[in-house]
Amino acid sequence: MTRAFDDDFKYGFSTRGVHAGQRPDPTTGAIMPPIVQTSTYVQDALGTNKGYEYARGKNPTREALERNVAALEGGRHGFAFSSGMGCLDTLMKLFKAGDHIVCGENVYGGTYRLFDKILKNFGLTFAFVDTRDPQKIEDAMTAKTVAILVETPTNPLMRITDLAAASVVAKKHGALLIVDNTFASPVFQRPLEYGADIVYHSTTKYLNGHSDMIGGIAVLNDDALAARIEFATNAAGAVPGPMDSWLALRGTKTLALRMRQHDLSGRKIAAWLEQRMGAERVFYAGLASHPQHALAARQMSGFGGMISVDMGPQATAATVLGRVRVFSLAESLGGVESLISHPASMTHASVEAARRDMLGVTEGLIRLSVGVEDVEDLLADLEQAFKGV
Ligand SMILES: *Cc1c(COP(=O)(O)O)cnc(C)c1O
Repeated sequence: MTRAFDDDFKYGFSTRGVHAGQRPDPTTGAIMPPIVQTSTYVQDALGTNKGYEYARGKNPTREALERNVAALEGGRHGFAFSSGMGCLDTLMKLFKAGDHIVCGENVYGGTYRLFDKILKNFGLTFAFVDTRDPQKIEDAMTAKTVAILVETPTNPLMRITDLAAASVVAKKHGALLIVDNTFASPVFQRPLEYGADIVYHSTTKYLNGHSDMIGGIAVLNDDALAARIEFATNAAGAVPGPMDSWLALRGTKTLALRMRQHDLSGRKIAAWLEQRMGAERVFYAGLASHPQHALAARQMSGFGGMISVDMGPQATAATVLGRVRVFSLAESLGGVESLISHPASMTHASVEAARRDMLGVTEGLIRLSVGVEDVEDLLADLEQAFKGV
């Protein structure tokens, strides 16, 4: 089980990003953790080993990443996975047929797909509710509810869940509060501080930040729960390779720096879009016009680079998507390069059309992941793409 180094917690966030969970290699002094590319470990004698037996269970590069992100989220234990979905799937293996989970209705499309198309068949039951209202979470709780799962801000509509209020409901019912923190990153929001039991990420996004690997990670404090996750992780096997672990670990060294720029440029671009399209069409929790701005400002220290805009007719959205030159048309988010996407046909294609309509993921909605290029270039690109719109 990977536990963060206790003394890492005394440092500031940026220092932890660079150093937490890693120590120079004792054999060579290499400043960067080695990529330990092995499947097995030679044992000293029958029943004696150096703490490593087989790499599905443990790998030193992976452990460095686990300790690092645990220290960033302010948790004791970290578990890295081969993808964000692999992480969530393993967390769900803590539960059994008949268990009930209350889930935000506006979560990542793949989360909904995993629950509704696969895990339902194994006897888990789900209630999808608007978690902006803690009373709706409370109303959905049953005697069988084992967990509340929320994403805040949500993808792509940037709806906010009050983490402290959700945690009160979870504790009252003896359920776990599980939070997908992919959009905010631990730079701007640390759910464990608001009472969450498990926080998880798609490391593919901001934590790695360079769009060159797929991964996931879960962080928590409770030792007994961590032992159960360790068991499920090794048993189910959705673990990352050492190279991908190393790439994510390289990413977290600059996470604080990158998020600062994503946030600065995100605010500028959101303000431009608001002027251009009107406040009711722009979704960004950092705008004073966002209906939950006050709550967002209370539990987040920045708002990052994710913005959605309702362009009206799909043809208008298509025009803008076709004209951009600095932004690239692609799924995913959180990288140094700016991306633009069409949630209805891309990230949320796995959600039925009627359900997308109900949620407000309209055919005219586009989503921007603002990168770290010069913001003047990004604004000029949008200016030409929006001409005549
Ligand atoms: C991308 C994403 C996931 C899934 O992660 P993968 O690494 O693609 O499996 C989960 N939640 C959110 C919010 C995401 O953006």
